Order: sequence, then C-alpha cells, then structure tokens
Amino acid sequence: PAMAHSKALLVLENFIGGKFVPCSSYIDSYNPSTGDVYCRVPDSGKEEVEAAVKAAKEAFPIWSSKSPLERSQILNKLADLIEHDLEAFAQAESKDQGKTITFARTVDIPRAVHNFRFFASSILHHVTECTEMPTMGCVHYTSRAPVGVAGLISPWNLPLYLLTWKIAPAIACGNTVVAKPSEMTSVTAWMMCKLLDKAGVPPGVVNVVFGTGAKAGEALVCHPAVPLISFTGSTLTAQRITEKSAPHCKRLSLELGGKNPAIVFDDADLGHCIPTTVRSSFANQGEICLCTSRIFVQRGIYSEFLKRFVEETKKWKTGNPSDPSINVGALISKEHLEKVRNYVKKAQAEGARVLCGEGVDPLALPPGNQKGYFMLPTVIAEVKDESCCMQEEIFGPVTCVVPFDTEEEVIRRANSVKYGLAATVWSSNVGRVHRVAHRLQSGLVWTNCWLVRDLNLPFGGMKASGIGREGAKDSYEFFTEVKTITIKH
Ligand code: NAD
Repeated sequence: PAMAHSKALLVLENFIGGKFVPCSSYIDSYNPSTGDVYCRVPDSGKEEVEAAVKAAKEAFPIWSSKSPLERSQILNKLADLIEHDLEAFAQAESKDQGKTITFARTVDIPRAVHNFRFFASSILHHVTECTEMPTMGCVHYTSRAPVGVAGLISPWNLPLYLLTWKIAPAIACGNTVVAKPSEMTSVTAWMMCKLLDKAGVPPGVVNVVFGTGAKAGEALVCHPAVPLISFTGSTLTAQRITEKSAPHCKRLSLELGGKNPAIVFDDADLGHCIPTTVRSSFANQGEICLCTSRIFVQRGIYSEFLKRFVEETKKWKTGNPSDPSINVGALISKEHLEKVRNYVKKAQAEGARVLCGEGVDPLALPPGNQKGYFMLPTVIAEVKDESCCMQEEIFGPVTCVVPFDTEEEVIRRANSVKYGLAATVWSSNVGRVHRVAHRLQSGLVWTNCWLVRDLNLPFGGMKASGIGREGAKDSYEFFTEVKTITIKH
C-alpha cells in the first residue's frame, strides 16, 4: 500500500555544500497521528557524511574569518525567515512528530526562532580574560577561535528547537556544521535548509545529512575531521558515541535523559502547583527530557493532592494533534507507544494503582486517528522507589505520585536514581526551598515553577543526564578553542 500512493509522499534530500542532493536509499517516516507513511528520508551513510564534512571544511576559512557582527546579521535574517513561515513550520512539526499544533506554534518554532536571535546577540557580548604581571613585565590574555567542523546530532522530541539550539551557537562562533537530525523527525530541518541561502548563510556552512543513528550518526561521530560533537538524546546512545569518539579524543557535549522529581511540601500553593505539575508531567505527551515523572508529596496533603491532580489530569484532552483544543497528541512511534504502555503494565503487576489513563479510562479517537499512536495521560500511585517506573526514563505521558514524610528523606529518595537533569520544588518556605535546591543532584532546579528558562544560564545534566552545559557562555566555550597569549613588554 505504501508503494500505491508513493507519488504523494514527501521526499527529503540531504543538504550539502548549499545544494539539495538525492540519496541512493531512503527510510520511511510515519505520521504518528494516523500511522501512515507520509515521507521518505535519505538513508545516508559514510559517503554522504564524507561529502558533507568536505563541504563544511571548505567553507570554514571564509565563515570563520567573518566578523561576529556579520555572522550575527545572517543569524537574525534566518530567524526572521523562519518566523515568517512559522505556521508552515508548526504544521510540519506537528505532523512529523505527533505533537499538538498548539505546542508547535507556541513552543517549538518560536523557540527555534529565538535560538538564532539569542546567539546572534550573545556572540556580540563576550569578553575574554586579561591579567597583568607587572614584576615580569608581562600581560596575558586569552583569545577564542572557532574549532572547525562541528557534528550535531539531535533527537525526535523537539526536532527544530533542539537542532537550532546547536546550529545557532556553532555557526555564531564561526564553526561550520554537519547536522544529523533524528530519522523520525527530519522535515523541519529540511525546510530550514531551504531558507539558508536567502538568509545569506554561505554554501557549506550548514550541511544536513539525514539518516539513522547507526549509519549516518556513527559516520559523523567517527569522522576524523570533525573535532567536536554536540549530542542530545538517550544515555545509551551517548555511551556508544563516547566509545566511538574516544580514539579521536573528540570534544563532547552530551545532553541526555532524565527521571525528574517534583517535590511538593505541605505548605505549597496547590492552586498553582497542581496545574503546573500536570503540565510538567504531560506537556508534549511527556516527551520532554525535563518532564516530571516522580512526584513526591508530603503525607499531610497526599490524598488531597492525588484527588485534585487526577481531576486536573482528566481535563487534558487527547486526540488529533491538528485540533487546537487538544492537549495531548500522538507518541512518536508504535514501538515507543508499546514501550510506554509496558511500563504501566509492569507497575500494575507490581501492585501499583493506576488512577487514570491507560487501561482505566476509555480513549475515543476521531475516525482518521484510529491507527495513531495515542495514549491517555496516566497517573500511577503506590509505586515502590525501586520499581522500574520510578527508576527508568519512560519518556511518555506517565507520572508516578508517592508520599513522603521529611525533608531529609525526600532529598535522599529524589537523588536515588541514576539521572540528574531537572527537579521542581514546591514550598512557600524560602529557607527550605534554598536548602533543598542545593542538595538535589540535578543540573536544573525550578522552585514553584517549571520550564522557565533564561538562555544565558547553563543548561545540562548531572550523573547519567549528561556531560557539559549549554547556554550563552557555556556554548561559546564549547564551540570555541581558547588560547592563552603572553606578551612581554
Ligand atoms: P536517541 O539517543 O535514540 O537518538 C538521538 C539521536 O542520536 C538521533 O538523531 C539518532 O539517530 C542518533 N543516534 C542513535 N544512535 C547513534 C549512534 N550510534 N551514533 C550516532 N548517533 C546516533 O534518542 P531519541 O530517542 O531520539 O531521543 C529521546 C532521548 O533524548 C531521551 O532520553 C531524552 O531524555 C533525551 N533528550 C535529552 C535532552 C536534554 O537536553 N538533556 C533533550 C531532549 C531529549
């Protein structure tokens, strides 16, 4: 059946040296909300990566010698062009990923635009260090230069958002790039390539090679002329990338998974905490590395919290992502949906209680979405800390709620997972908020809010959640090589 309407399929091409180039083989890409193949993505390998790295190397001398101001103007132009097509990008992202059109319109694409504007601005404001040694008659200063060809590998959950979070700082600093988006969500990266020339990005500065991680991704990681890799994705893949890049001593930035706790003390403002924690659990179908998946609630308010949390969760409507009133769209793939559902089954088998969602409530879908990968937001209670649902990243619309008694106890339990990406703390006691925030093993701690970001500040995870940080200064440091120069006068 896929062949029968193959004419209607969208066919992507690699973007190398400023030109779209076809590939000899392709991968099917599905529309998660219908279950249909709708797009074909190049199945690139060594040869395509080789051509892209070559183009990036050739473009490097000219691009890296442009002034930051010239590069900044080009990035701003690109931001304007994406913003001009915001609706088309949002529609494409929603169709490709399964996320709601509302989320794509208000989060994904605006943030992609902002990534370019932000680094267009921040690149103009860095200062390097200088120290004096009068007794030696010396001054020392540091200078920073772009590294060369950057390899950028991104996941499927926030496709253009996360890819541009890497492309923008990399090229703002004067590097040229070879990017490999997720094979499951390649369309918006391809659409962005169509705007590069108009924005004034010279050929070869941004190359995009589409394909799988095992073929295209690994060819990029193993390429000797790519000295740095910025990767966002799972911890398992990061281990593989670390091994493969070790013989080349590559510089790595790894943004990985999470098992993020929310800690709700009995003095929390529940009117604010509950809707925000429902959002932090289920936004983008729970497919955000920062989503909450373990909610610790102080015993005195536990039953009230559970009742109100379930009521609030039930307000979230699951269905056709292109309907603007829908809150939960489709999960990325059939396999992923199965994996997420299995976690719920395992929890039940262990004696946990599913309070709403999967297997408990009926899921009514419109006729066109019957074969889509949908699942209701699911709340589980009475889960043991050692259960896989409390230890492993589920990356779907599932959250666990458990009671706790003391501050000391909840800090220990929140820290007792291998991950350390993001945490939220809910309390009106300022002293407690600071104490707990300091002791959580987490790269980000939000208190009485979630997902409020200042891109100036470091973003990244501890423990198995990653290595390195990204942000205005951190990305600048990652994407440049520093040199210390001493002048004797
Ligand atoms: P993934 O690790 O399967 O894939 C990520 C990317 O790596 C894809 O482009 C994939 O093709 C590529 N890849 C896979 N194997 C590779 C290999 N051997 N060599 C090189 N590249 C390879 O992750 P995913 O399933 O696409 O994304 C979900 C994961 O990403 C979750 O764990 C989530 O927490 C994490 N994530 C982290 C952040 C963060 O900022 N910390 C943000 C979003 C997502």
